[in-house]
Amino acid sequence: MSIQENLKFIRSKINSAEIENNRESGSVKLLAVSKFHTVEEIEEAINCGQTLFGENRVQEATEKFSEIFKKHLGIKLYIIGQLQTNKVKKAVEIASRIESVDSIHLLKEIEKQCEKINKKIEVLFELHTAEDSKSGFLTKNDVENAFNFIIENNFSFVEVKGFMTMAPLTDDENAIKRSFQIAREFRDEFQAKFPQFDLGELSMGMTNDYKIAISEGSTEVRIGTAIFGERQLSS
Ligand SMILES: *Cc1c(COP(=O)(O)O)cnc(C)c1O
Repeated sequence: MSIQENLKFIRSKINSAEIENNRESGSVKLLAVSKFHTVEEIEEAINCGQTLFGENRVQEATEKFSEIFKKHLGIKLYIIGQLQTNKVKKAVEIASRIESVDSIHLLKEIEKQCEKINKKIEVLFELHTAEDSKSGFLTKNDVENAFNFIIENNFSFVEVKGFMTMAPLTDDENAIKRSFQIAREFRDEFQAKFPQFDLGELSMGMTNDYKIAISEGSTEVRIGTAIFGERQLSS
């Protein structure tokens, strides 16, 4: 199947899932994860109306998207992979959102680099909701400390918009569901605790589990394989 056909298929599946779960039409956004795929493949998706893209690695993202931004208007890039401190400078230059923030240390560096170039950036707090995952905030206390840190230090470039998580790699649907439920409970709890933030975003669901994610309240699914096909290298 072509990228065009894949996109059409996925969009219709997302739409059906919205209807099945009494979600408003268009309430689940599609982030096309283009890691390991070429500029040409990304442009094929752009030609089908896709505007939102996700990449894991800053170096690869910069190489591809500096070219894409020159040719196409209205494209947004989100960084979704684990981010090293020394990559933050480049990340905030090209991305409009970083979804994989899981430490105060990273938050500080993002605020600092954004201040230098006077650019606001959206961030999501990544939550560790699955045992086999290596990234994400581990505890409620850690997340609460991060919010308090932002407040106490009057951050004005970092804008927290919600949460991101990855479910475990398993066929056990209940384990996947549980992981998404934990993320949603975090979101609800912290939204109530910190009403001055707008924590509406819940980025969860990938090629193999996006339907479950939508039923658990996802507002953004991150889909790679089902759009672009199998990756040559796995990340
Ligand atoms: C690669 C990746 C995805 C997309 O995964 P697929 O299974 O190919 O849809 C989503 N989120 C993150 C964080 C990823 O690294």
